[in-house]
Amino acid sequence: KERILEVRGLNVDYGMGPESVRAVRDVDLTLHRGEVLGLAGESGSGKSTLAYGMTRLLPPPGIVAGGEVIYHLDDGTTVDLLRIRDADLRRLRWSEIAIVFQGAINSLNPVQRISTQLVDVLKAHSASTPRARLDRARELLTLVGIASDRLNSYPHQLSGGMRQRVMIAMALALEPRVVIMDEPTTALDVVVQRQILRTLVDLRERLGFSVVFITHDLSLLVEFSDRIAIMYAGQVVEEAASADLYRTPLHPYSDGLLQSFPALKGPKRELSGIAGSPPDLRMMPSGCPFHPRCARAMDVCGQQTPVLGQSRAGRSVACWLHPVSVG
Ligand code: ATP
Ligand code: SF4
Ligand code: MG
Repeated sequence: KERILEVRGLNVDYGMGPESVRAVRDVDLTLHRGEVLGLAGESGSGKSTLAYGMTRLLPPPGIVAGGEVIYHLDDGTTVDLLRIRDADLRRLRWSEIAIVFQGAINSLNPVQRISTQLVDVLKAHSASTPRARLDRARELLTLVGIASDRLNSYPHQLSGGMRQRVMIAMALALEPRVVIMDEPTTALDVVVQRQILRTLVDLRERLGFSVVFITHDLSLLVEFSDRIAIMYAGQVVEEAASADLYRTPLHPYSDGLLQSFPALKGPKRELSGIAGSPPDLRMMPSGCPFHPRCARAMDVCGQQTPVLGQSRAGRSVACWLHPVSVG
């Protein structure tokens, strides 16, 4: 499959010097054309940091400490998002790669009508007439499932789910090829979240963009994404096709996450979850970062750090239970 975005060896720190913590560590991730890639992991595992690091939108004191982010343009050339000039990046940001931030629904301007905010996005990035922009704004709202008579509403007149849809409409305004969506945390209930994701996935099929969807709700990803990457303590510990991950999670942490939500189908099972909590990034455990919580930990786990690689079964996992095939 054709690649569109490749993250290679990405490291992101908060702060500098002895006080700094590494919130994203040696992450490799590939997004293919037209696919939905899900990113899951407990709170604090580094999902947002990864998304903002790879698009150079990190708030201070976040710093990209290394790596590259290769974006494949339509003409077959590539650019490294971490190294192109600010002006070039700004241009790419709406027209090629759009991001819907965590907490974005609160970032709509409360005193401006939805129409004004949508039109502003269009005005800033494309040369068109006011009439055409208004038509396009209406069309975008319809696209994301909002009746176009809502165009003149203020944000507070819309539900949380509708505001999230407005954010998606804005992200899609310039027909980007990649949409990165960091879930709104507690703001939306699961049913609404599911409906919104359904809309996004349907649009992906019609409009042909790729999606990176970030959530701690793995059940949503199993349902909607093509592939899933699982993060723990700043690292990707497993990456697999959704169906493979769901049927046979290889990393004990992936397994634990899957046990943390009720089965979509079939008999009800106990919610077991994972005992303990993620490590303090300033005091990372030796060896496998998951070993203090892992029921299957062996001697080697506290001593040597497993790295993400192709196991013999051809699956991508960082765990000593599944040694990486040599060569
Ligand atoms: P959530 O599911 O809660 O959104 P997340 O997976 O997106 O979590 P991040 O927000 O990326 O996690 O945070 C990753 C780690 O970086 C956490 O340990 C967090 O404490 C740390 N971190 C985040 N922002 C800062 C900051 N401004 N300064 C210092 N550390 C930070
Ligand atoms: Fe558990 Fe060891 Fe695998 Fe880490 S490497 S997840 S501690 S079995
Ligand atoms: Mg986050």
